[in-house]
Amino acid sequence: MRYKIREIPDEGKAINLVLDRPFLDEALSALGVDVDRSSVAVNARLNVAGESIVLRGRVKGKITMPCGACIEPVEISLTAPLNVTFVPEGEEDDEREEDSAVLDDFEVSPHDGQYIEIAQLIRENLILNLPYAPRCREGCRGLCSTCGANRNEVDCGHTEKQVDPRLSALSKLKLS
Ligand SMILES: [Zn+2]
Ligand SMILES: [Zn+2]
Repeated sequence: MRYKIREIPDEGKAINLVLDRPFLDEALSALGVDVDRSSVAVNARLNVAGESIVLRGRVKGKITMPCGACIEPVEISLTAPLNVTFVPEGEEDDEREEDSAVLDDFEVSPHDGQYIEIAQLIRENLILNLPYAPRCREGCRGLCSTCGANRNEVDCGHTEKQVDPRLSALSKLKLS
């Protein structure tokens, strides 16, 4: 995912990529994502603006990962903007100060004068835009803490006491 700056035409260069399995694996499998049932594409454009190179576009796809409550697979639609300006190495901080007042979701990344490398950026973008604990359905009942049954599917008969952690902390205080 390296682009030669000299080869970016005046009208810009379109980037249309489907992320391959090894890439998804490296970026996402540690987060529990089922890489074989996920697909992500990058559609963006590189434009030269003086010494800077501007990348605009989005990362879009479907990700399959476990429900945060019952661990059944959930398919998530992901659409995340890509908004990055590559500036010559060493000028990132100046640029950030100038622009931060204008655009908050603006990212600044260095380039070496020769190439734009976007792989790391795409990885970070993916990870940051994944939901922390997705649910397979609204009100997923999760797993029984006694026997481990999926409480959406079976009624194992165990009653789950919803203990407010603040209350249990209080009762411990009273005992001591
Ligand atoms: Zn669930
Ligand atoms: Zn149970």
